[in-house]
Amino acid sequence: MTTPRARQALDGIPVYRAGRAASSDDHKLSSNENPYAPLPGVIERAAAELGRMNRYPDAGMTELYAALSARFGLPADHFAAGTGSVAVLFALLTAHLEQGDEIVYAWRSFEAYPIAADLTGATTVRVPLRPDATHDLDAMAAAVTDRTKVVLVCTPNNPTGPVVSAEALSAFLTKVPSHVLVVVDEAYVEFVRDPQAASGLAALAEHPNVVVLRTFSKAYGLAGLRVGYAVARPEVAIAIRKATPPFAVTDLSQAAAVASLESQDLLDERVEAIVQERVAMLAALREQGWDVPDTEANFVWLPLGDDALDFAASCDPVSVRPFAGEGVRVSIGAPAVNAELLAAAAAFRRLRD
Ligand code: PMP
Repeated sequence: MTTPRARQALDGIPVYRAGRAASSDDHKLSSNENPYAPLPGVIERAAAELGRMNRYPDAGMTELYAALSARFGLPADHFAAGTGSVAVLFALLTAHLEQGDEIVYAWRSFEAYPIAADLTGATTVRVPLRPDATHDLDAMAAAVTDRTKVVLVCTPNNPTGPVVSAEALSAFLTKVPSHVLVVVDEAYVEFVRDPQAASGLAALAEHPNVVVLRTFSKAYGLAGLRVGYAVARPEVAIAIRKATPPFAVTDLSQAAAVASLESQDLLDERVEAIVQERVAMLAALREQGWDVPDTEANFVWLPLGDDALDFAASCDPVSVRPFAGEGVRVSIGAPAVNAELLAAAAAFRRLRD
C-alpha cells in the first residue's frame, strides 16, 4: 500500500521549529515573546467569551476591524486579520504567487518566509544582509525581474534587529515596479525608537503596492491567542481575506485584541520598559566586547558563527535561539532574567578569550 504523496513543493520544506521551551516561562528568551502577562482587563474581556464557545466566531471580525480602523484612521476595508501575522503572510503569498513567479527577500530573516514562499511553488531569490546585518535594498531592487511578484522587507529584521531607514525604503519603492507587492513586516514596530526608521503605513499612503504586516503577539503580549493583521489597499486586503480559512480568529482572540487596543496607554508603558531593558542589554553586551548589531526590536543578535550552539547550551537555564553556524538571538525578558543572560555571556567570553 502507498500513502498519498503531498505536492513536490513540500519536499524541501522543514516543519517550522519554534524556540526551545525553558525550565520556566520567565527563562524563555527564545521566541521574542513579551515577558508581561496580559492585562487583567484584557483577560477578563477574553474570558467573557468562553461561555459562548458553542458559537462560531464573528467571521467578519467587525469589532476588530472597527477598532483598527479607529486606531489608524483608515477605512475598515484596509485590514485583513488572521491567526497570527504568519498566517496572514501565508494567505497573502497564496493569493499572489504561483509556480514560475519569483519572490525576493533578505537573508537571514524570519524563518517562516522560506516555508510560506516555497509552499506556493514560486522561486525564491534571497539577497544577503549587509555585514552590519541590515537589508541591502539596492541589491534587493536589482534582484527584481519581470517575474517578481512579491518582495518581503522585514523591519526591524528578525533575527538581527536593525531597521530599514525611511529614506532607503522610499528610494526602494520608487525603483520597484508598482505591480510588485512590497510586504513590510512590522512585527516589532512598537519597539522602534530610531527617528530615521521607515514607516510601512507612511509608505502605504504613497504606494498602493505596499502591504504592512502587524501582530498582537509581541508588543501587545498576546502571542498565545494568535492575532495578526495586514494593512493594505482594499483590493489587496480582500485577496488576503479570501485566502484565509473561515473563522480563523476566535471570538476570544478578537475580544482580547480589541481590549488591548483600548488599553494602549498601559501597554505602551510596558513596551517602554522593554525598550529600556533592550538599550541596557545592548550596551552591556558591547561593554563585554560582543560585536552586536544595532537593534530596534525586543531582541539582540550575537553573531557567534560556529560557537552559536555552544553559547546557547552555556546559557542554561536561560533558553535562547541559536542559528547553527551563524549566531544566537536573545529576546529581552524580565530584568532578572536579562541579568542571568548577561552573566552567562560574560562567562562564555572569559572561557573563549
Ligand atoms: N514576522 C516576524 C518578523 C516575526 O518575527 C514573527 C514572529 N516570530 C511574525 C511575523 C509572526 O508573528 P505572529 O504569527 O505571532 O503574529
